[in-house]
Amino acid sequence: MTNRPGNQFASDNYAGICPEAWQAMEQANHGFATSYGDDAWTLQACNALRDFFETDCEVFFAFNGTAANSLALASLCQSYHSVICHETAHVETDECGAMEFFSNGTKLLTVSGPDGKVDLAEVEHTVNKRADIHYPKPKALSITQSTELGTLYTPDELVAIHGTTKRLGLKLHMDGARFANALASLQLPPKELTWRAGVDVLTFGGTKSGMAYGEAVVFFDREMAGEFDYRCKQAGQLASKMRFLAAPWMGLLKEGALLRHAAHANRCARSLSEQLAAIPNVSMVHPTEANAVFIQIPEQAIEELRRKGWVFYTFIGSGHCRFMCSWATTDADVTSLVEDVKKAVGQG
Ligand SMILES: *Cc1c(COP(=O)(O)O)cnc(C)c1O
Repeated sequence: MTNRPGNQFASDNYAGICPEAWQAMEQANHGFATSYGDDAWTLQACNALRDFFETDCEVFFAFNGTAANSLALASLCQSYHSVICHETAHVETDECGAMEFFSNGTKLLTVSGPDGKVDLAEVEHTVNKRADIHYPKPKALSITQSTELGTLYTPDELVAIHGTTKRLGLKLHMDGARFANALASLQLPPKELTWRAGVDVLTFGGTKSGMAYGEAVVFFDREMAGEFDYRCKQAGQLASKMRFLAAPWMGLLKEGALLRHAAHANRCARSLSEQLAAIPNVSMVHPTEANAVFIQIPEQAIEELRRKGWVFYTFIGSGHCRFMCSWATTDADVTSLVEDVKKAVGQG
């Protein structure tokens, strides 16, 4: 395997820490501060998130997305309830049953739908097909924005989802591990894609947006956040040096760094997508609407790319090649990958 010094397209979590998050951590690293979140940085980061969403939301910080998602969903349900999600949802396919574990048995019920987005008729069917006591009662819908397949729910689709959840009495959770990429792409105020669209609780991803670690759990309905702090503590998610989980948010939210980096990642993905689409023998799989590009190429071409040292996933969704761009991706990385794909499919 070539010792490739350049960047990789495996996941946006292969990238390092962006300068703004790093600097904010450095600034927080002076002197002593109260532990367990009773510090000035945590207060300021929570307030920065309230300003960002333009509402008095309740904010908690967890170490990673799996914990943030599972605890958020567990807080919406009793153990005999169920949560509906897309069959490719991270909570279903990539969290090792953490939601079921932290909720003491709440069941995930999956639905399908094109390009990683839930089909609302299926959601409705899942809720209404049974009303008896033997069925795990559906209580919440979890959607991912941007989706696991690099697509976006449009504002109109969110309106339709809200209409459905409201009618069916479901709470709405959004897995926003890549919410910043959705925001940068749709160019709408954060409130329009969250609480104004009926989202009760958002898992807001920091890690894939350029932080070392850390996701914010944002409750737009403060009532639902009752005793969530105990849930975090019990699950091992209450950082004693909380200032270092909180401070990077200020770095990212200050002067628009979060959206600037996300827009950059999206732009790289768009450029990669356009260049790959122009190569004969390469089939595009999902529309490139955020920072992921999915393609289908012959198995031997996949092996050839791997031999050259490229790292990428083929286990997401329908199992095609996924190339993920991040704040740290460069135009040179994109060009270099495109050249190698051309050669691998016999067009270079
Ligand atoms: C990466 C990711 C998460 C969080 O994963 P962790 O590894 O637990 O931090 C959650 N949801 C989606 C859609 C993701 O891509």
